[in-house]
Amino acid sequence: MATRKPTKPRWWPGPLKETQEQRRARALKIFQGLKKQYPDAHVPLNYSTPLQLMVATILSAQCTDKRVNEVTKPLFKKYRKAADWAAVDQETLEEEIRTAGFFRNKARAIRTTTAELVENYGGRVPDTLEELTALRGIGRKTANVILAHAYDKQGIIVDTHFIRISRRLALTNEIDPVKIEFATMRFLPERYWSDFSLLITWHGRFICPARKPTCGECPARTLCPAADSTGEVTWRVKTPPKPQRRRPA
Ligand code: SF4
Repeated sequence: MATRKPTKPRWWPGPLKETQEQRRARALKIFQGLKKQYPDAHVPLNYSTPLQLMVATILSAQCTDKRVNEVTKPLFKKYRKAADWAAVDQETLEEEIRTAGFFRNKARAIRTTTAELVENYGGRVPDTLEELTALRGIGRKTANVILAHAYDKQGIIVDTHFIRISRRLALTNEIDPVKIEFATMRFLPERYWSDFSLLITWHGRFICPARKPTCGECPARTLCPAADSTGEVTWRVKTPPKPQRRRPA
């Protein structure tokens, strides 16, 4: 699936003067605060096998989890193995997943990826980042979702919430998802990668959405340079009005 070029976001509160060790300690405190805040954080997509998680994750791009679960409910009964998905024709699958949006690209991604699974892995979804990202239709984000939630391995899942919040928290100033992933690896011990990603996603949904974060309820408030005492965030500045052109008299 085509990846979008990252655009420069507005919400970079500025660099913090802290060492890597201090950032590491701050990130761990943030992690602990979020863990307390969201003890029941879980993947909202319904799945029971790595293959189902892979399909659901492909479908989830630019689509709500609720809609993905509605779409996958009958399909997971109909297509049980990778070979079943690979054998369905493009038009049929497009119709079946139409309501998930971007249905042509998604149908193509599902069919080509499952065909590769059949051809190279006996229909099994591989469990390493290298093998997963070598599949057509699987990017690093989807690969890390599969590793973290289907195989219980560690992976940093950089979605839009992760990009926004790690920048608000000044954990990174990168905008490219892969650079953010590698930057996070440097300050966060590996054993926390998957849980941290999940918690950040929940935080983005419930307390720190793109618009109007409720900083007053945030467990990371004292560790976040983007928070201010009013609950607004410091980077929200009004664009000055354009100067009016005067007509010559
Ligand atoms: S303090 Fe506000 S901006 Fe910072 S992480 Fe919390 S909710 Fe988001």
